[in-house]
This record gives sequence, C-alpha cells and structure tokens, in this order.
Amino acid sequence: MALYMADRTKNCLHLEGLSAAAGGAYRCPLCGEDLDHDGISRWVGEAERARDEAYSMDEGDGFAKIAREEAQREVYRRRRIMYELENVPRVATTRPEMILVVHDLGAASYGCRIFYKEPRQAGSVEQVSVAAVLETILELRSDPDPVVRLIAEKVEEFHGLREKLLGDGEPAPQRRVFYANELRAVG
Ligand SMILES: [Zn+2]
Repeated sequence: MALYMADRTKNCLHLEGLSAAAGGAYRCPLCGEDLDHDGISRWVGEAERARDEAYSMDEGDGFAKIAREEAQREVYRRRRIMYELENVPRVATTRPEMILVVHDLGAASYGCRIFYKEPRQAGSVEQVSVAAVLETILELRSDPDPVVRLIAEKVEEFHGLREKLLGDGEPAPQRRVFYANELRAVG
C-alpha cells in the first residue's frame, strides 16, 4: 500500500492544483502529497528544467514544437498555482525570461520569440523578425521599446558569431536560446 501511494505521488502532476493543509503545507487532492514552500519551488523548477531541455533541442518536427509549447504551458500553470498559494505579488516586468533566435536561411532573416515570466505586461513584444543584415540589426538598437533593443543586442551577438564561423569556413548554428542570466535588465 505504501509503495502504491509512493508511486502515485511520484507520477502525479497535481492537475487540480494544491490546497492549504495542516502545518502550513499544501496538499494535492488527487494524490495526497504534501508540499511545503521549498517543495513547491522545486516542483516549479522541475517544469522549468524540462522546458529548457525541450527548447535546447533542434527544431525537429511538429511534435517537437508541440512538446515545447506544452512544456512552457506547464511552467506557467505551476507558477500560477505557486503565486496563488503564496500570494506572491504579480509584479509586471518587461524583462524577458528567454529569447529564442532562429536563423531563417531562405528568408535571410532572424526570427525571435520572446518569453516572459507570467504575467507579462500587456502589449509586450512576443515575436520579432529582423533581416540578417548588420545595419538593420543596429537600427533596432535604437528602437523605442527597451525589449526590442535588448533583442537587437542578442541578435547582433548571434549574427556576429555566425558571420565569424562562416568566415572561418565553420558550420554556423541556426538557433540560439538566450536565458534570463544572459539578458541585462531592461528599462
Ligand atoms: Zn498530486
């Protein structure tokens, strides 16, 4: 019985959320697991790692794309549960959590997708496409939107790396993910 419970707890995604239980813990009504503050943080962290792994993989087929989106949604879902339980103030921030830059050879451009910690501010830029030309990239560095300027900085970095590798006759990567620790504060 104990083993059965352990297995059930291990595999449960706590799909119905968590509710306050005795001793300041939070309990999943489906599997009965109790999570304290650290447990919830770890639970959110696990989803973030799974998401990062999904995004570090190559583009792949449609299923890979679905898996990535699913992983991102799970991060948001778990964070929402954490915020609601712990009354973490939902401070809006314009700083992206992650920027995905993909070089489109056919269009000779970079497609950027920008991810934020939820909740993001209304009107936050989510996608940017920029021609793979240094002058165009540099123009974006003076865009009125600070997030666009940040994106331009990262595209310039990626573009410079690709140009250098291609100049050396080396294969250049087609995609790059910039995580929060590589992004300066915007504003
Ligand atoms: Zn559960």
